[in-house]
Amino acid sequence: MAHLPTTKIAIIGAGGVGATIAYACLIRGVGKHFAIYDVNRAKVDAEVLDLNHGLQFVPMATLEGSDDIGVCAEADVVVITAGAKQKPGQTRLDLAGANAAICRKLVPALQRAAPDAIFLLVTNPVDVITYITQKLSGLPPARVFGSGTVLDSSRFRFLIARRCDVAVQNVHAYIVGEHGDSEIPLWSSASIANVPLKDWAVPRHGKLSVRDQTEIFQNVKDAAYQIVAGKGATNYAIGLATAKILEALLNDENRILPVSSLLNGYRPIGSADDDQAIDDVCLSVPCIVNRAGVGQALAVPMNAAERAGLRNSAETIRNAIRLLGF
Ligand code: NAD
Repeated sequence: MAHLPTTKIAIIGAGGVGATIAYACLIRGVGKHFAIYDVNRAKVDAEVLDLNHGLQFVPMATLEGSDDIGVCAEADVVVITAGAKQKPGQTRLDLAGANAAICRKLVPALQRAAPDAIFLLVTNPVDVITYITQKLSGLPPARVFGSGTVLDSSRFRFLIARRCDVAVQNVHAYIVGEHGDSEIPLWSSASIANVPLKDWAVPRHGKLSVRDQTEIFQNVKDAAYQIVAGKGATNYAIGLATAKILEALLNDENRILPVSSLLNGYRPIGSADDDQAIDDVCLSVPCIVNRAGVGQALAVPMNAAERAGLRNSAETIRNAIRLLGF
């Protein structure tokens, strides 16, 4: 080997999501050494072989895989994608029991292998899995977070961009709350090039109507169901989204991303005196991501309906967590 690996990313699960995260990271040059662990030896060997055959065409990196968790030794970041995925018609919360059981076994073993790692959860229902991983591990909340609504927000921005005929990179808009059916679109703070979205006039259409907004948000919520119905699983956008989160983390970027983290005493800007703070639950609001993991959850502006939606989403996630005995 010409050089020693510097940054090690361990990916748990060599399924569609795990393999695509590795592929996206390799292409973007995020991370120098990759270890993929899966209980399915044939699958992990095949994915790693295929990825290794592309190393000539990407920034310098090394990649290994195994059905022995020891392959994750000394990883800087552990990305968990192992577990059941949605079948057509299933919600993400339907996966909670099966995937929580996998985490109960995996997390202590991963902590033994990679005691200094930051844990990034992708397995669904990601908010529930993030919460139980933090509790099972006893790690500081900064070192355990989930991909959350980074993906949903990119779906939201894509649909707004297409409706308004501008580049997706010029749209600023967040989906917050659960990565799932109770998520909330923050229309009140959405903007294009500093113009509030509510004032943005689409050529030959005018301002977005309530009907336009409903249609866009329904599409965001239905996106995974639509993709699962067509090809069985989602992988590309979550692969790219996770690579972006890892880039923010490993490059110490202080990037603001709507990741899922443990919130305590969270109050959005605009909260009324009698609005209850969001406590003891993992969900997504814009947070600072850097080399220490997930930092401050930002108090962003929300109107009364958005704040009520966030509290309802928190309750939905908390109920799912309680059902698992946490
Ligand atoms: P998949 O079935 O293709 O792959 C899952 C892999 O996990 C399999 O290869 C399986 O062998 C492995 N696995 C199972 N138990 C394991 C264990 N104990 N240790 C190691 N490996 C184990 O599924 P997928 O499409 O890759 O999806 C994976 C997860 O990611 C699902 O829960 C899915 O819902 C979730 N997901 C999350 C998002 C998000 O935005 N958070 C987006 C897409 C998918």
